[in-house]
Amino acid sequence: MIVLKQGREKSLRRRHPWIFSGAIEKVGGSPGAGDTVEVRDSSGKALARAAYSPSSQIRARVWTFDAAQEVDAAFFRERVLRALALREALPAARHSNALRLVHGESDGLPGLVVDRYADVLVAQFLAAGVERWREPILDALVELSGCSAVYERSDAETRKLEGLAARVGFARGDRAAKRCPIIEYGLNFRVDVEQGQKTGFFLDQRENRQRVRALAAGREVLDGFSYTGGFALNALAGGARRVVAVESSKEAVQVAQENLAANPLDASRLEFVPADVFTQLRKLRDQGASFDLVVLDPPKFAPTAAQAKNAARAYKDINLLAFKLLRPGGLLATFSCSGGVDAALFQSIVAGAALDAQAEAKIVERFGAAADHPVALEFPEGEYLKGLLLLKT
Ligand code: SAH
Repeated sequence: MIVLKQGREKSLRRRHPWIFSGAIEKVGGSPGAGDTVEVRDSSGKALARAAYSPSSQIRARVWTFDAAQEVDAAFFRERVLRALALREALPAARHSNALRLVHGESDGLPGLVVDRYADVLVAQFLAAGVERWREPILDALVELSGCSAVYERSDAETRKLEGLAARVGFARGDRAAKRCPIIEYGLNFRVDVEQGQKTGFFLDQRENRQRVRALAAGREVLDGFSYTGGFALNALAGGARRVVAVESSKEAVQVAQENLAANPLDASRLEFVPADVFTQLRKLRDQGASFDLVVLDPPKFAPTAAQAKNAARAYKDINLLAFKLLRPGGLLATFSCSGGVDAALFQSIVAGAALDAQAEAKIVERFGAAADHPVALEFPEGEYLKGLLLLKT
């Protein structure tokens, strides 16, 4: 049982699932990592049941705001069932066999991420609570998804904050998963679920890749931070005249080349440049190169607000260079997946970049994460990916 300090029950009343260590007055008994605890306000009223995490600043994550509800295997089966039902109803489910099935807090399963790549699931257990219930969760995932193989990628940095060691490998079933073939809107991609970044593929950008495909016809395209070629291949499929894809990871470029070969596309129009984007953009500028469509999808420069300042400098730098490389009438699709940089801050950084590049631009569209990455209204932290489509006039 944990008792909150007076007034610190407010966020719980708004149904926010996190209880920080500083909000706790008293811990009754000696709950271990992942144990289910009752949460009470300072007057002793029961508010919720939560998973205890002794070494994390987020000391507990709420399972249910019904303090009488049992947290057991059936509870997790029900949560997984609900998450899967939501995905089955999405239009994207008819266009791709790769979807995010569970998106942590927003699906009522704090710390759990599950992506489906055709017949293989990739799971990340990122908090003490889901770690404690790992076996029943895995059972429910296999039973309800119909996928017999689950590869675990519990190797994200955030596990350390929970006092958990990394765990990687097949948790259920076994099959060669070095390259999982998936289809996304008619394009073939190979996903390396074992060595790839995150769980292997950036599913959150699925619909934005479609937008780029629809905008690419006849254009010269620069795809910055191209990973395994998601935007680059879509631009090519959309009829781009030429595509230059810049990516610093040699492994990612290797998979990107395999992805190109796996599709009936004109490979001569796509050039992969294994390089640092910051350096390469400068080089292109110095060469006087220009493009009609630039995509910038960098990694998380600022995981939390504390790194926002350095991140702002990096975002400004690449966007400024992109504005310089764009021809008049050209489009810039620019993204940030930093939790520490919100949409308003990102927009002002991009505005500063345009100003310094002496470019005039208008926002013609805004981007977010695909619908299989829902954001629960009570959990705004779940909204991390934002993007702008800018028209340079
Ligand atoms: N747009 C991609 C996902 C990009 S993820 C898609 O749709 O699949 C970000 C990528 O940036 C990663 O592949 C990472 O290896 C790469 N990266 C990180 N820092 C970089 C840098 N300085 N220069 C080039 N690539 C970089």
